[in-house]
Amino acid sequence: MNYTWASASNVGRVRAGNEDVVYPRDSGSDAGPVIVAVADGMGGAVAGEVASRLAVEAAVTTEGSPEERVAAANEAVVERIEREPKLSGMGTTLTLARFDPDGSLQIGHVGDSRAYLLRDGRLEQLTRDHSLVAELLAAGKITEEEARTHPQRNLITRSLGMLPGVRVDVIEEELSEGDRVLVCSDGLTGMIEDDQLIELLGKDGTPDETVWALVEAANEAGGFDNISVVVVDAAQ
Ligand code: MG
Repeated sequence: MNYTWASASNVGRVRAGNEDVVYPRDSGSDAGPVIVAVADGMGGAVAGEVASRLAVEAAVTTEGSPEERVAAANEAVVERIEREPKLSGMGTTLTLARFDPDGSLQIGHVGDSRAYLLRDGRLEQLTRDHSLVAELLAAGKITEEEARTHPQRNLITRSLGMLPGVRVDVIEEELSEGDRVLVCSDGLTGMIEDDQLIELLGKDGTPDETVWALVEAANEAGGFDNISVVVVDAAQ
């Protein structure tokens, strides 16, 4: 398989700083393995930025499966808080995907950043959010519509930095020619509806064109949060 990717991270229109981190920063093309990641940091002052940067650095420099990389990122954030207690309360999401030469995709995931697969015009969310609204939605207690405007929609139930030892979701998929994978922070998915996501991802644009079209759409919708996206195309 050959993979072509691009990424973008934008502060949005409301926040003063960008606490998201994307990896890689540059676009490119390779037969794999290709690693991509999105982390969305949280915590007062600059702590969110510290957490997301630390997590991505640890994850991409650790050898091992996506699950092991995400676990290592958690340890890095937890250890930093132990050494610097003023950072306590900082945390981050991390969704890391590895694309292998044989077409297999493996994802390690904690938090409410997301991975999607666009295949034959259909969009599938590969990850499950670790958030209160996702739990309420899964339990049938609220509707999709209510989830979008729920006052506690930013409440994350699992993130890196909370505890030593984190449960990492692992998702596996076999990719085919023409598949497109999106990894993104909630600054994208909180701002635009699935219909628009499918439309923008489904256009013929390159990953480079697509990531900026997605950022622009989230900003046009208000840009209430930092927006980070990575798009990876699979081709034979
Ligand atoms: Mg966010």
